Formats: sequence, C-alpha cells, structure tokens
Amino acid sequence: MLFVTDLTGYMYCSRKLYFSKILHIREKPQEQSIKGTIKHAVFEHAGKQDKEIISSFTEKNSLEDLEMKYKKVYYSVLMFHIQRAKRDLEAQGLKTLEVYQELWPFFLAEAKEKCTFFYTLAQEKKIYREALWLALPKSVPELRIVSETLQLTGIIDRVDLIDGFIPVEIKTGSAPRDGVWKEHMIQIGAYMLLLSEHYGKEISHGYVEYRAIHERRKIVMNAFLRDEILELIQKVRATLNSKVLPAKTTDIKKCERCGIRDICYAQ
Ligand code: SF4
Repeated sequence: MLFVTDLTGYMYCSRKLYFSKILHIREKPQEQSIKGTIKHAVFEHAGKQDKEIISSFTEKNSLEDLEMKYKKVYYSVLMFHIQRAKRDLEAQGLKTLEVYQELWPFFLAEAKEKCTFFYTLAQEKKIYREALWLALPKSVPELRIVSETLQLTGIIDRVDLIDGFIPVEIKTGSAPRDGVWKEHMIQIGAYMLLLSEHYGKEISHGYVEYRAIHERRKIVMNAFLRDEILELIQKVRATLNSKVLPAKTTDIKKCERCGIRDICYAQ
C-alpha cells in the first residue's frame, strides 16, 4: 500500500524515497521540517479548542475577550509543541526561545483572523454560544482514507462537509505567486480520488490553505490530473519494486540541504 506522501516524496527525489522506504535510511529532521511540524501540530491542537471557546461566547463578550482567549490557547499550545521538539531543535543548533520568537507572530495573526471571523459571524447573525458553534461550516479533521483499488492511503488534514466532501491541505510553508505548487496539486488530487472511491461520489475540487499568506487556493479535478496521478502511482510502485537505486536528482539545491547526502553520494 502506498501513501499519498510517497507520491510527493517521489516527485521531490525518487532516490531519497527509495532510501527511506526500501533501504530504511532516513534523514534526521531538518530545521524547516521541524518548524513545519510544530506549526502543523499547533494548528491541529489549537483547532480542537474551538468548540469550547465558541460555545462559551456570549452577546456580552467583546472581540477583545475572544482574542484574549485565543491568544492564551495559541501561546500554551505553541510552547507545548516547541518543548516537545526541543531535542530535534537543539540538534540543529536552535534555541527554543528563538523558535518561539520566530513563530509567535504567525500564530498571533492566525488568532486574530480566527476571532474576527467568529465575531463577525456572531454579530451579523446575532447568534451566540452553542448556536454559534452549530452555525459554523462543519469539517472532519485528520481523516484517514484507504483505497483497495488504487492500493493507496493517506490522512487528509481536513475534509469540509459542504455539499459533499472537500479535501483541504494546510501548508505552513511559502506559497507560489499563483495557484499551488505541483506537489500540492497532486496531493489534493490524490485525496479527491480516494474520497471519490470511498464515498462513491464525484469530488470536483479541493483546496490548499497557505497559512503564511492566509489564502486558500482551489484545485479542480479533471481527466488530465486524474491520469497524471494514476501514472505517478505506477511509476512510484515500479521504482520501489525495483532492485536498482534511482539516479540522483538533477536539482543540486535539494542535495545541498539533504540530510543523507553523504550516504547518497557515496553510492
Ligand atoms: S542527496 Fe540529492 S539525490 Fe541524494 S537523496 Fe538527497 S536530494 Fe536525493
């Protein structure tokens, strides 16, 4: 069974994927990936507090009250995940305080944006507490889905339940000027195929949420994307079933920041 992330790993460097999946040689977490993991964990963890906070929001509360609550949540959750990653951070020569100072403005902006959305909705519709929570668009976080037909599985960051199933991937890294990065298109496309098979419904589109720029970008399913994903699955499977180590990537920049470069280049 392949993971959807194997497809994107293959696109990044098929040799690195082979080292990881077949030879079990994996790189130690690098700075950007540790910070990305922390950001992702904070989003997920803080999101679990939404129900409690929104359900206790009344007509007497102000926007500042809401912001205060969310700031506390994000602060404690961020500190928790930075402490949890302390060993990996220190192995990269990073101090926890510096990481906090770098990431905190990001989550402060996130908290403010979230509060403004909830507050505006409450004021416009004049709904509070449980009714406000129930009025929010519903979604399922971290949905694991398996396709026996495609022999493919993955965990979708979030599936929005709006007239069907809409997969959403949350990305904390940089966004392209327009559209989405190719790997992200393949990832969302693969989730659309998985959801479509599982629920027996056409899934027409999904989204990538680029949190750094607070933008959600749409990906539409079409015959070209479907074929590209199916072809990619075959290529990845063939590579991983082969006894031959794939060639090095031609993108030297990837090698410069690769944690297994010494092993790779010695082969
Ligand atoms: S050093 Fe370069 S070719 Fe080798 S695994 Fe890393 S990214 Fe791929």
